Amino acid sequence: MLTLPLTKEQFSDLLNLYYGVFFPLKHFVNKKYFKSILISKKFRNNFFPLPIYLGITKKKYNKIKDEKFLKLTFERKLIGVIKINSFYQISSTILKKKFFSKNHQKHPYYKKFLKENFKLLDFEYKKIIKINLKHKNFISPNNFKRKIKKILKKDEMIAGFHTRNVPHRAHQWAHFFMLNKYKNLLIQPLIGQYKKSEYLDDVIVKTNKKISKMYKKNRTFFTTYFSYPRYGGPLEAALHAIVRKNYGCTHFWVGRDHAGYKNFYSKYSSQIFCKNNEKKIGIKIITEKEPYYCLGCKKIVNKKCLNKKCINSKKKNISGTKIRNLIIRNKNIPEFLMHKQISKLLNKKSIIN
Ligand SMILES: [Zn+2]
Repeated sequence: MLTLPLTKEQFSDLLNLYYGVFFPLKHFVNKKYFKSILISKKFRNNFFPLPIYLGITKKKYNKIKDEKFLKLTFERKLIGVIKINSFYQISSTILKKKFFSKNHQKHPYYKKFLKENFKLLDFEYKKIIKINLKHKNFISPNNFKRKIKKILKKDEMIAGFHTRNVPHRAHQWAHFFMLNKYKNLLIQPLIGQYKKSEYLDDVIVKTNKKISKMYKKNRTFFTTYFSYPRYGGPLEAALHAIVRKNYGCTHFWVGRDHAGYKNFYSKYSSQIFCKNNEKKIGIKIITEKEPYYCLGCKKIVNKKCLNKKCINSKKKNISGTKIRNLIIRNKNIPEFLMHKQISKLLNKKSIIN
C-alpha cells in the first residue's frame, strides 16, 4: 500500500476535524460539500464558512492516482488507512470569486493552494491510529472544557481572543476590556505560521502564555489553536468564531482586520460578517473599534477622548508590523507599544526569515 505523508497543515486539519474543533464539520469535504460551503456558506443545514479539504500535488497525484487504499502518515508515524472514493477539482472561477477575490494573484494563500492542491481527495477512514493523533500544540476541545469546568461556575461567560501575534498594548486593551465585561478570558493564539516575517510558533506560545499569567488567576486561560493562517478575512474570522465556540467560549473578539492580509479586505468587514451571522454561528461576537494610543493623555483608548487636550492631539496606531520591524532592526520597543515583560522575550530570532 502506498503512503501519503501529510503536511503539518493537513495534519492540523485532520486533528481539528477529528476532535470537533471545526464542529459541525467532522471530516474533510468532498466536492459537494466544498461547493456548498463556498457558495452558500452551508454544510448540510448548518452555517459553515470555509471548506476544509485534503489535497495533493500533481507529482503525488501521478504516483497514487490508481490506488484504492492509502496509508496516511505524519512525521513518519502512521495516522491511518483511507479508502479513496475519488479525486476532484474545484473550478478556479468559484475559488477566485468566493474565496480569493479579484486580487487573487496577490493572495498569499492562493499560490499555496494551487501548488499543494492539484487534486482533492474524497475519501473515508478505514483505520485510525488514535495514539498518533497528537501534537504538542494541540489540546482537544473536550479536554480543555473539562479543565475550565472545574474552575468556572455553570453559567459564567468566557470571551475568546484569537491572535497570531505577540501581545502588544492594543491586544492588552482588548484583554482588559473582556476581563472587565465578561469576567473570564481565553487567550488562544493560532499556532502554525509558514510565511516569512511572522513569529515562530514557540515565541507566540511563550509570550501569550506569559501575558495570560500576568492577569487575574483563574479568570484568564491559555491554550493554543493548532492550525495555520488562510488569510481568509471575514470567512476565516467566522471559522475562528466557530472554533472558539467549540472550545467553550460564550463570546468572541473579532478584530478590525481579522484574518486579513495587507489591504485585501475592507476595514471592519470581518466584524460585520461575523456579527451578521452571529446567531447561525452560535457565539456572541464582540465588535469593538480598534484601540490606539492617544498622545494627549498618553493612554490606549478606542474612542475619541473628550478631554480638551486630546481632541486635537494625534493618535498613534499600534501595529504589529511596526513592532516586528523594530525587532528585525534590533531596536528597542517602546513601552507604550508593548509591555516590557513581553518585549524582553523578543529578538531577531523570534521571526521567521
Ligand atoms: Zn486622550
